[in-house]
Amino acid sequence: MKNTVSKELKIKKANESKIGQVDFENLDFGKVFTDHMFVCDYANGEWQTPEIVPYGPLTMDPSARVFHYGQAVFEGMKAYKDDNGDTFLFRPDENFNRINKSAERLAMPKFPEDYFFEGLNTLLKLDSAWIKPGFGNSLYIRPFVIATQASVSASEADEYKFLIICSPAQSYYSGDVSVLVAEKYSRSADGGIGFAKAAGNYAGQFYPTNLAKKEGYQQVVWTDSNTHEYMEEAGTMNVFFRINDTLLTAPVSDRILDGITRKSLIAIAEKEGYKVDVRPVKVSEIVEAAKNGSLKEIFGAGTAAVVSPVKAFGYKGEHYEIEKQENSFASHFKNALMNIQYNKSEDSFGWRVKV
Ligand SMILES: *Cc1c(COP(=O)(O)O)cnc(C)c1O
Repeated sequence: MKNTVSKELKIKKANESKIGQVDFENLDFGKVFTDHMFVCDYANGEWQTPEIVPYGPLTMDPSARVFHYGQAVFEGMKAYKDDNGDTFLFRPDENFNRINKSAERLAMPKFPEDYFFEGLNTLLKLDSAWIKPGFGNSLYIRPFVIATQASVSASEADEYKFLIICSPAQSYYSGDVSVLVAEKYSRSADGGIGFAKAAGNYAGQFYPTNLAKKEGYQQVVWTDSNTHEYMEEAGTMNVFFRINDTLLTAPVSDRILDGITRKSLIAIAEKEGYKVDVRPVKVSEIVEAAKNGSLKEIFGAGTAAVVSPVKAFGYKGEHYEIEKQENSFASHFKNALMNIQYNKSEDSFGWRVKV
């Protein structure tokens, strides 16, 4: 949203940095936050003065609508530092557009573009010491919007808070995961909010994911809610299948999140001359490919882990192992993408944005 908001960003710095207390060699994902956060309130039909303040708790009325009706949307993005100490974002305009698309679906006001980027850039400069150089190190950035209006009346709020908080992250390799293909539960439905990064989409996944964990699977691959015959995506990742040397992934829809990692991998693969098929992927064809040996890889794609290889999947009580590949597509595309993110390779797509 281009607009002419012009309130000046206010900055209140933390008295002391917490950075000395942080063990950057042993970071648990998403547990530690930087010294500052960005906050902007919406009231009286407009976004108020944006501020950067010391990171800390919020005080809210217990009747704030976010607690009752789940009006909450978020984004996940990262900042990367190269060996010269320069900081980069990766396609941040995509995150900005997507949080407003999510907000619109949840009847929340759009956030102004200039507030977003001025706030984000200022925050990253202020907390720059928290972004460690080194391939795989990053600062995970979490913008989010919540309905703060005090009232349990079941309609959209007219007061909101937009925030950005940041958490240092290490390159993590969680090991190859096993996934269970959903047969009963769904994460989204036609006409629903699956395409939005809406908080409730995630809450609804924890229970079926726990059931999958009891069977020895770490994650669920969701299928279409009507027939459960088509592969859709994982909890916070889009999913790719490699059959022989063709890469397959489902088209995005109102049920599937339009992942930035997903579309970047598709663009890189197509540019490098790989065959990419974006079309509905039948569970039965993947099972068939697993049986006849043409299924070479499955991997998830998302900002947090970049690319996450799948070593096995379960479906209708059967377990299918995927043989480990030398020179996997997963590691090739992960490197190609990270080289762009970390300013190690040419960025012919113009995705890298210097802070
Ligand atoms: C965030 C997310 C993704 C990945 O999106 P990226 O933009 O690549 O980080 C995929 N699926 C769901 C459900 C998500 O929430």
